[in-house]
Formats: sequence, C-alpha cells, structure tokens
Amino acid sequence: MYETDVVIIGSGPAGTSAAITSVQRGLRVILIESEEFPRHRSGETLHPGIEPLLIKLGILEEVRGAQFLRHKGNWVKWGKDLRFIPFGSDENGPWFGFQAWRADFDNILLKRAISLGVRVCQPCRALKPIIQHNRVKGVVTSQGDIYSSFLIDATGRRQWLAQKLSMQLDKYSSPLIARFGYVQGECPVRDEAPSIIADTTGWTWTAKVRPYIYQWTRLSFIEESLEKDWIPKEFHGLERLGPTSGADMTWRMVKRPGGWGYFLTGDAAAVLDPASSHGVLKAIMSGMMVGNLVFQVIKEHCTEKHAIQGYCKWVTDWFKHDVEKLKELYAILPDMGQSG
Ligand SMILES: Cc1cc2nc3c(=O)[nH]c(=O)nc-3n(C[C@H](O)[C@H](O)[C@H](O)COP(=O)(O)OP(=O)(O)OC[C@H]3O[C@@H](n4cnc5c(N)ncnc54)[C@H](O)[C@@H]3O)c2cc1C
Repeated sequence: MYETDVVIIGSGPAGTSAAITSVQRGLRVILIESEEFPRHRSGETLHPGIEPLLIKLGILEEVRGAQFLRHKGNWVKWGKDLRFIPFGSDENGPWFGFQAWRADFDNILLKRAISLGVRVCQPCRALKPIIQHNRVKGVVTSQGDIYSSFLIDATGRRQWLAQKLSMQLDKYSSPLIARFGYVQGECPVRDEAPSIIADTTGWTWTAKVRPYIYQWTRLSFIEESLEKDWIPKEFHGLERLGPTSGADMTWRMVKRPGGWGYFLTGDAAAVLDPASSHGVLKAIMSGMMVGNLVFQVIKEHCTEKHAIQGYCKWVTDWFKHDVEKLKELYAILPDMGQSG
C-alpha cells in the first residue's frame, strides 16, 4: 500500500503533463501506466503554438532534437478547390508544426517526469477507484493499493473513471468511428505537408509522419464499410504497416470532469474527432491545469469546491466552443447534416 499527494492514471500527454506540473510544484506524485514504453499511439500532428507549453514542461529542446518532421501548413479541400493553408508567419519566418512520432514524444514527457522525481509504476493497471465517504481516496491497482489526496484520470478516450463511477456522459454527435493506418514507402506528393480532403460522405487525412512512413485517417459521417485493406488512393502501391485500426471519436464530454478527490483530464474528460486537430494540445493543457489546481488546493488553501467548479466550467466552455467550431466546419459540407 502506498500513500501520496497525487496519483495519476495514464502516461499519455495528459497524465505526464499533470505529473510534471504537480511535481514541479513540490507535490508527491505516483504515475501508473498499464503499457510498457515505448508504446504506439496515433495523433502525430501538432500545430505551431504548442512551443510555450513545451517550454513550461521543460521539453522543448528534447522535442526539437528528436528530429520530428516539420511542415508549414496543410493542403485542404473542404467543399472548394484544393488549396494550401499555411499556419502563418512572423518576422522570423514561417511557423512550423510537428509530426511528433507519439512513441518518442510520449517517452520524452515520461522521462522528464521521472527526472523530476515522479514515481512511475509501469506496467501497472488501475483496477478500481477507492471511495470513502463519497470521496475518491485512491486506486486499487495490479501492484497494490494507492491512497492519495487527489486522483487524476488521464486514461484516454476509454474514460476509465467515468466508466467505473457511471458518470453522466453527454454526446454531441452521432456515432463517429475513425479508421486509420500506416503505410511504408515513398509518396512524394505527401512529403511537404499533410492533406485533408472532404467528400460527400466524410474526410480523409494523409500525412508523412516519419521518413518513409505515412499515416491516413478516414472519418465517415455515414456508416461506411471500408474494405479490409482499404487505403487512400495516393498510397496505392505502398506497403501497409499493420492492420487498419478504429477509434470511437463520437463528440462526448463527461458532464462533471471534476469532483471530490478527482479530476479527469485529456480524452478521459472529453473527446472530439481529429478534425478538431488539437487532441494532444488539449491533453497537455488540461493536464497542466489540473496539476496547478491540485497544488492550489493542497498547498495554497484554495477551496476544493472552488477548484472543481472552475475546472468543470473551463473544460465545458472549451469543449462547447470547439463543438460550435466543428459544426460550422461541417456545415460547409452538404451531407454532414446527420451529425451534431
Ligand atoms: C486516428 C486519430 C488521429 C488523431 N490525430 C491527432 C492529431 O493529428 N493531433 C492531435 O493533437 N491529436 C490527434 N488525435 C487525438 C490524440 O491522439 C488524443 O487526443 C491524445 O492522445 C489524448 O491524450 P491523453 O493523454 O488524454 O490519452 P492517451 O494518449 O490515450 O493516453 C492514455 C494512457 O492511459 C493508459 N491507460 C489506460 N487505461 C489505463 C489503466 N486502467 N491503468 C493504467 N493506465 C491506463 C494508456 O495505456 C495510455 O498510455 C488523434 C486520434 C486518433 C484516434
């Protein structure tokens, strides 16, 4: 049995950002992760603007040194002609995004957390929350029980704590399943920048994510049965890397992402489809926010009620703003009326 200030479940960008922020503020942190690292995750594209967060987490130089591919913008065909949309520029030149290979990116974050003193249990699975007097007091794991002042759920889109406590989950779209996969070879037309092409039944995203490796995602607004070995046309002739995967990207949010003794962060709190294009940024920002809040409650005498209310409002406002933006985006496409 262990006892700590904060126990965090899941070491994706949300969990490690929460861990780094909490430990930077002097809290005792245990981070548990069910998978061995490096472990693969999709979601490589990071837009410019993420750098200030990487500086705060102390990993900008590591990320810059990791030799991730960089790009100046995206090719977009969204109801109109295909056009290149750059991210923007300033007096120092154009802004670049990252194609951050997630096994490496998530490992950089985890190593940073460990170097600051976060205690990591891995592989270790969260089995069930410990509840005492209507308060989350810790977690039963595959390696023993951990008691904590706060539990942070960063388990990603399966939303572990919300499932375990049967929390209310509000859905804002019809069911949306993203299919995605990887191919290997050369596709010069995709080497400069990713592309997103909408058609009458959905959209297809293609990007070069590593030397000789390309990623594709297909999201359909209708029930579309993709053939088992479907890949976008531009990748025909390239070698498939692994099977096609699927992910439930239905727009959804846990109604109360904070409560007595716990906070939900990243995808564990709210999920939007990848067209919202900032799942990793959202995970990092909400992880940092939660790390700051638990510090304020434990060390700065901020009331827990105040922290919970503020966090629930912050997540809800951001999520609803993104939902409105996505609806505006999809309204441009004539056949998207079914969703949202
Ligand atoms: C096809 C696709 C394309 C995407 N493209 C992009 C993109 O280009 N850019 C972008 O920003 N976002 C993208 N996203 C979204 C992005 O991947 C997620 O928003 C992001 O990974 C969320 O981070 P997280 O830390 O909340 O969760 P995750 O990264 O999913 O991490 C959760 C962690 O919790 C661990 N865990 C789960 N359950 C337990 C348990 N019971 N006990 C212990 N550990 C547990 C998991 O092993 C995992 O390591 C994409 C998503 C998909 C599906």
